[in-house]
Amino acid sequence: MESKHVTIVGAGLVGSLLSIYLAKRGYKIDIYERRPDMRKTSISAGKSINLALSDRGWRGLEGIGIAEEIRKIGIPMYGRYIHNRDGSSAYQPYGKKDQAIFSVSRADINMKLMDLAEQQNGVKIHFNERCTSVDRKDHTVHFEHNDTHQVTTAKSDLLFGADGAFAASRLNMQLSSDRFEYNQHYISAGYKELIIPPGENGSFLLEKNALHIWPRGSFMMIALPNPDGNFTCTLFLPFEGEKSFAKLQTREAVKKFFDEEFSSAVPLMPTLLDDFMNNPTSSLVTVKCFPWTFDDRIALIGDAAHAIVPFFGQGMNCGFEDCVVLDGLISKHKENWPAILDEYQRLRKPDGDAIADLAIANFVEMRDKTADKTFLLQKKIEAKFSEKYPDKWIPLYSMVTFSPHIRYHEAMSYGKRQQEIMDKVMAMPDIESRWDSAEVENEILKHI
Ligand SMILES: Cc1cc2nc3c(=O)[nH]c(=O)nc-3n(C[C@H](O)[C@H](O)[C@H](O)COP(=O)(O)OP(=O)(O)OC[C@H]3O[C@@H](n4cnc5c(N)ncnc54)[C@H](O)[C@@H]3O)c2cc1C
Repeated sequence: MESKHVTIVGAGLVGSLLSIYLAKRGYKIDIYERRPDMRKTSISAGKSINLALSDRGWRGLEGIGIAEEIRKIGIPMYGRYIHNRDGSSAYQPYGKKDQAIFSVSRADINMKLMDLAEQQNGVKIHFNERCTSVDRKDHTVHFEHNDTHQVTTAKSDLLFGADGAFAASRLNMQLSSDRFEYNQHYISAGYKELIIPPGENGSFLLEKNALHIWPRGSFMMIALPNPDGNFTCTLFLPFEGEKSFAKLQTREAVKKFFDEEFSSAVPLMPTLLDDFMNNPTSSLVTVKCFPWTFDDRIALIGDAAHAIVPFFGQGMNCGFEDCVVLDGLISKHKENWPAILDEYQRLRKPDGDAIADLAIANFVEMRDKTADKTFLLQKKIEAKFSEKYPDKWIPLYSMVTFSPHIRYHEAMSYGKRQQEIMDKVMAMPDIESRWDSAEVENEILKHI
């Protein structure tokens, strides 16, 4: 089947990128987006203000020639800067010397992708159009305009649902399929965005080239730098319980909580109480589903196929990787779409599941273990060993973040094996004093 006309639901990060990949291959693309055009109206994305972009995401951007432009507006973060409760701090590099994840503005990257799609690739984006239903029998999708309520029907050869974690396209597939697997899980924590403004002359009040973490056991705050000198902070806190959003209903309660828990950050947050009371508290969901493709002509992509919690900074990166994989399959199968879609979901489903599970596990690591001495020692041993034997050991974080040639599900299984080895190493007597000895190195070599 030669499919030339494509409908994409959602002009978010993944839908916009996908449109460019397909347009470059000569497909005619129409995207229908529920929101107004963010380049003309100031709208909140309803998610994080900035995102961590890493190697899988860069690969997606390189494929359409826009990586260098985005790199100019990103801020490299070379490691985690840990702020302990007692006021002390510590720095943990993410990888080797020059390896960094980049803080980028969600809106900037989305707008640049939309510009590139429309202005250089002939993509047509229809704004204010909400997908209401998909008709699988006659290959049509229906949209309702936000203001006029006029209904539009789009008919095309291929349909991609890139409409995010709560995708209408996915819901339609679920309702119209027999044996559609669907699992949705909310973690007990929610999040709220806050701000650390710039100092004098736009200076950064914290180390600029790091991702800051205030780990506090069952909760944490993080901060990512923005080019204008401010930091977007995100508080991840349980909805209910002793330390929770439910307990922070008044300005007094918020002030007391922050003074006790984040005393080093409070002087940098002059608008904290207003921000806390005014900004929304949002929930965090993992969605796993299957299949991702239907009728040889419909596919889910990005968060619509695999919404994950943000603790590995991989949701967008994974969605961009979906586009890279799909593009490779178009070449491999010479536009034979049944074969492309079949292999796409077979390849990507195990990886989507793996990064979803890794992201949940990384919440525990960030909020709890980054302040734990044993954990930090383990990381030091791993880093040293990996530096000496780079072909034998890549730490899990680096496999996920800096090694796009290693698939997520492979990284997860290597990571499990490595943890078993490190459990043995950490159980060695006096490991604190002989962590860099030959015996420790030999113990690791013995088990690899
Ligand atoms: C707090 C937080 C922090 C995060 N941090 C990171 C990070 O550091 N790094 C990272 O890689 N990822 C991160 N993510 C994940 C990242 O935001 C998502 O993975 C990414 O946005 C997915 O892109 P998408 O295009 O699939 O979905 P979305 O970005 O959600 O875009 C979906 C689009 O579809 C539109 N739409 C929805 N419903 C309809 C409809 N019915 N009809 C038409 N259009 C519709 C929406 O308006 C939207 O424009 C984070 C997520 C959160 C919540």
